[in-house]
Order: sequence, then C-alpha cells, then structure tokens
Amino acid sequence: MKYYSTNHKAPEATLREAVVKGLAPDKGLYMPEKINRLPKDFFDHIGEKSLTEIAQTVAQAFFGEDIPKEKLDAIVADTLNFEIPLHKVEEDVYVLELFHGPTFAFKDVGARFMARMLSYFVKEQGQSDVKVLVATSGDTGSAVANGFLGVEGIQVFVLYPSGKVSDIQEAQFTTLGRNIVALEIDGTFDDCQALVKAAFMDDELNRKLNLTSANSINVARFLPQSFYYFHAFAQLAAQNSADNVVISVPSGNLGNLTAGLFAKRMGLPVNRFVAANNRNDVFFRYLETGLYQPKPSVQTIANAMDVGAPSNFDRILDLYHAEHASIANDISGNTYNDDEIRKTIRETYEQTGYLLDPHGACAYKALKERKNDDEKGIFLATAHPAKFKEVVENCIGKTIEIPERLSEFMRQPKQSIFLPNDFDRLKNMLLEFS
Ligand SMILES: *Cc1c(COP(=O)(O)O)cnc(C)c1O
Repeated sequence: MKYYSTNHKAPEATLREAVVKGLAPDKGLYMPEKINRLPKDFFDHIGEKSLTEIAQTVAQAFFGEDIPKEKLDAIVADTLNFEIPLHKVEEDVYVLELFHGPTFAFKDVGARFMARMLSYFVKEQGQSDVKVLVATSGDTGSAVANGFLGVEGIQVFVLYPSGKVSDIQEAQFTTLGRNIVALEIDGTFDDCQALVKAAFMDDELNRKLNLTSANSINVARFLPQSFYYFHAFAQLAAQNSADNVVISVPSGNLGNLTAGLFAKRMGLPVNRFVAANNRNDVFFRYLETGLYQPKPSVQTIANAMDVGAPSNFDRILDLYHAEHASIANDISGNTYNDDEIRKTIRETYEQTGYLLDPHGACAYKALKERKNDDEKGIFLATAHPAKFKEVVENCIGKTIEIPERLSEFMRQPKQSIFLPNDFDRLKNMLLEFS
C-alpha cells in the first residue's frame, strides 16, 4: 500500500518509508492511499472474536500487502499482551479500559506496535539503525520508551517539558537506561514538539542520522489504535447491545480519535464520535465554528491533552475533504476546565463507584452531555487513575493504591539530560550520540 502526504507535494511513500520518516518531506502527514472496508461476515461474527483475532484482521487490511501474514500476526499478538476490557458504568454507558498495558495508558498499543514494526524493517529489510525522537506531555514518552526498550537497532530520545509531567510519568521514561535517553527541556510541551519538528527539517541531521518520529503522526503508531474500537464494539455485540453506538474520546493531538474515524470508514457500525477537550479547546472551537485557530497550550490536570495545535488535525481534514459540515456531522465535542474535571471524578465515584482519571473524566462527561437517550455510549479511559494519584485522591477524599508494576518505576534512579529550549544544543547532542 502506498502512503500520500496530506500536503500532496511529497512523492508517495512505501509503508517502510512512511514509518521510518514519520513526517513526509513536505511536512505533511502520511495517509494510506485506501481504507479497505471489512466484509459483512466479519461484523456478523465479531462478538465471537478475541481482541487478537480482531486486531489481526484489521492489521491485515492496512499492512497485509507489505508484511507477510505470519510476521504481521506475530507483531499484533506480541503488541496486545494485555486486556482491553469493556465495563458497564451505568445504564447505556460503558467504559473501554485502555490502561492495562505496561505503562498504564492507551499509548502502549500504538507504541508497542510501532516498535515491533520498525524492528521488523531493521532486521528483515536491511533498514539501517534508527534514532527515534519523541516529544511527550507525559504518557507518550513512557509508552514509547517502554515499547522500544531493548529493541535492537533503535535508540530513543524522549523530549519532555521539565517540571510539567507527573512524578510517576517521569519515572516511567527516565529510569530505563539502555537504548532510552531522556531529555529534560526547559520549556513547554509545544516547545518540545517544535524541537522535534526542527530536527526532522534539519538537513545535516538527516544526512548524518536516520531520524524517525514516534509521535502519533507516525502511521505505525496511530493506525493500530483502530484495533480497539472494533474490540469495544465486539464486546457490546457479545451482549447483543451493539446498536446506536456513540464513542467518546479524550482528545489532545487527535491521533486516537482519527483512528476511530478510520475504523468507521472500514465499516465499524457506530453512529458518531464525541471529542472531549480540556481547556485546550482548539478542536472543540473548530467543531462549533468551522474556524481552526491553534494557540499556545495551557497546563491542566488532564495534562496529556494539553495541546494547542493538534498534530492529527490535518488527517481529519484530509479524511473529510476539509468539509466542516461532514466533520461536525460525525463528531461533536465539549470542553472542561479543571474544576469541572474534578467534580466529574468525585460525582461519578460517589454515584457509580467507578474511579475515573482526569482524561477519562472529560470523555465520560462529554459522552453524558452529547449522547441521545436512545444511544449506547462508550467512553475511552486512556490512563489508569493511579497515574494521577494526588489529583484523584483529592477529588474523592481517599487514598488509592498504586499498582505494583507502576510503583516499581518509582524505585529506580532518575537519569536525564537537562537542555535549554535551543535547537542547536539539541542538534549537537544528537550528533554526539552517533
Ligand atoms: C495522549 C493521551 C490522550 C490524547 O490522545 P491523542 O491521541 O493525542 O488525542 C488522552 N489521554 C491520555 C491519558 C493520553 O496519554
């Protein structure tokens, strides 16, 4: 399958080129040239299928032309070594828990898949060693670092805003060592993202190093996120209640939501989506007004969604030929400030016993406000509440337990390199590592 750039200036790329490059040379995002619909038979029996079986079928539709079936099946099975259960929270409201992977956040799915696919290209297709650059507002760094840990031929640099990620998040990518280097930047998440973009645009770096991105712009990271939309639907289908489904997604860079839109194009019978924003409401404003006005991000308690210029926005535009009316037809949204998020966590816990993290809380609240009475709603819980221990404990007035696998990270010594928000310093450091 070929991949084209959303800017339509760069030549089409193969899957390997798209994955290794990350961003297209014309600064656009790669899109698959076609989105294959899955057969009716697949949906008729979806309730009987396991997560791995479903994901293998979906992966085949995207990557089947480029990777032999048994290799691809193995990559998928190895990626999904954890459950993604759907639970009922209240009448017609279900949660898809995406936080049972190694770093307790949904980004494990995309990061684990991408690491395995890239490693396949390095080992089997003669691709030379690569350096992965990733900017993180918290959860991407940990998912990518853990997904790539120990993978041969790949070195990972995690850029994160100093003092702006939680201790638990920081511990998950600064304590690993081996092929993982944590770069602590004196700036915001947007600064980190801008540094990564600048590195990809730098001629000298690209001549000397094989740089790639593991942000959700990478097709190998964002496309596999469509797997679990089918799996969520399948779990409802198994209970004979998969009709009139709406899915609510806590959104930042919009990679997760875009993967859901791809699933719908592949035939997933869901009515529509809800995009939940925190105070960084650029996408919500777009849905309401048709105007896209990126602005600097502001810090919130749902910090993995603190994004002022969502990188996957161009993919959504491309998918809908930039028609605002069709986008607004498939997606509605809402935006919440920190007080509203805290109140949602507290009230939901009191009324249903279900404990939300700040990101899932946005999605839950937006679902409740946007869902019609005759619709079944699924919201995505993207992180384990223990990753935001203090915030959550303050909301509910109780201490919560940190899972053992998570507290283990906190016991290891932190290793990071502090850098000013200065591209030349980053560049020199990357060159020194080669
Ligand atoms: C990254 C992240 C999000 C936002 O996902 P996007 O694909 O960037 O929209 C939401 N919740 C959590 C916990 C995250 O880590």
